[in-house]
Amino acid sequence: MRILVIEDEEEIASFIKKGLTAENFAVDCAFDGEEGLKCSHINDYDLAVLDIKLPKKDGLEVCRQLRRSGKTFPIIILSVKDDMPTKVGALNIGADDYLTKPFSFEELLARTRALLRREKKVIGPKLKLADLEMDVLSHTVVRADKPIKLNKKEFSLLEYFMRNVGTMLTRTMILEHVWDMNIDPFTNTVDVHVRFLREKIDKNHGRKLLHTVHGYGYKME
Ligand code: CA
Repeated sequence: MRILVIEDEEEIASFIKKGLTAENFAVDCAFDGEEGLKCSHINDYDLAVLDIKLPKKDGLEVCRQLRRSGKTFPIIILSVKDDMPTKVGALNIGADDYLTKPFSFEELLARTRALLRREKKVIGPKLKLADLEMDVLSHTVVRADKPIKLNKKEFSLLEYFMRNVGTMLTRTMILEHVWDMNIDPFTNTVDVHVRFLREKIDKNHGRKLLHTVHGYGYKME
């Protein structure tokens, strides 16, 4: 899952990015309203965290423009203001949630997960396909009751596959949702990571779950 953080205070932005990255999200930060909008047009995000007071274009205007341009991903607004009219105003222009600063990372994370769940991108903390199970809260993966150790990237990659079972995923789609914008789009990094992941989840099992779709990408089923 890939998240866009639009926040001009670098300390807060990096605090959010660090926390979400540790929870296996891919995170891009934009430091003003216009940069945020630009990122949203270039990349495909699953959720945005948006500060209200931003240089160049304030967060409410960014929110309005995101919705006007057809972006439907959930938006969590951050603000030091906690008065009712501001909150209601934000929700009325298309934000999904509102968090008052200062906030705890735990709360931001819980709200992020709740919104993604509502988007039906998550059916709960547990994802299951045949005898393969992953728990995104406890960061555990088991197949046929045996624990599998994955590194962070493999875990994010598997999570993306497990949330899209039965769907053909191109390398570009995978890059867009599992890596942040620092990745070189021309590398073969997706194939390399898929190969490692496949070794770990499929190798010693008769029934293969992760399939190559030749000339297209990958599919889990
Ligand atoms: Ca700010």
